[in-house]
Amino acid sequence: MNRSRFIQQAMGLGPIWESREGWFTDHPAEITRHALIQASHDKAMAELHHLETAAPAIPEPAAQASAASLPSQQDSQLPVLPATALPDAEVDALDHLPDWEQLEQNVANCERCTLCRTRTQTVFGRGNPQARWMLIGEAPGEHEDRQGEPFVGKAGQLLDNMLAAAGLDRDRDVYIANVLKCRPPGNRNPVPEEILACQGYLQQQIQHVQPVLIVALGRFAVQTLLQSEQTIGKLRGQVHQYQGIPLIATYHPAYLLRNLPDKAKAWQDMVLAKKTYVQQAG
Ligand code: SF4
Repeated sequence: MNRSRFIQQAMGLGPIWESREGWFTDHPAEITRHALIQASHDKAMAELHHLETAAPAIPEPAAQASAASLPSQQDSQLPVLPATALPDAEVDALDHLPDWEQLEQNVANCERCTLCRTRTQTVFGRGNPQARWMLIGEAPGEHEDRQGEPFVGKAGQLLDNMLAAAGLDRDRDVYIANVLKCRPPGNRNPVPEEILACQGYLQQQIQHVQPVLIVALGRFAVQTLLQSEQTIGKLRGQVHQYQGIPLIATYHPAYLLRNLPDKAKAWQDMVLAKKTYVQQAG
């Protein structure tokens, strides 16, 4: 079985569409971001055209059936946190941008919220800190807490396959982080105090990476970054802005594992992300 077929099967899409490899094969980290963008633009345009025309021909589930199949967690609402709600001391601490290694160390030693008492270890992030794409999820789960990396297990495998189908390598072309760096016990939902305590680390990661595009994965990441109470169903399919950076909202891979029909929507979101990236880069 060739690579494309393997990816299609892994995503549950069937051999209906074909993807091409190589979009990011010329991504040496030492080349400046601007030069990379220029060099890959023409190729990206051709690849984007292919992706759009080769998108899976899976019929959209009827609106009613789709709504009925959505678990409440994905489309329910989080309390919106004011962007400036950090206590003064915390704001002061975040005024200074430490270097990448120091930032990682700060997270590893962090005791800003009670999750430090129950974590096995912090989960800082993974991938290329100089990548042009940044993927942001919710919080570490059981496997991530144990292994110290975001998006491992089946959800991570699905994410890898989705990235590969879009011509992106998770270790080279993207940087992946979570809103929270510590696992909420029992995989419970994060509470506002935890999100508030931890959000400065993510902001500092974004300042370092300076991504051209952000893809927010799942309700918590989307609602937290966009300061919105709207559901993913309403927020996906359009280009948002996070501190001047285009942001695409899409479903969390763990959710997609339980809701196979929405993989087609996630693919549409990836196509929109690539289209947005190309426009941004051009
Ligand atoms: S979740 Fe964030 S704020 Fe809370 S202890 Fe972990 S690193 Fe610190």
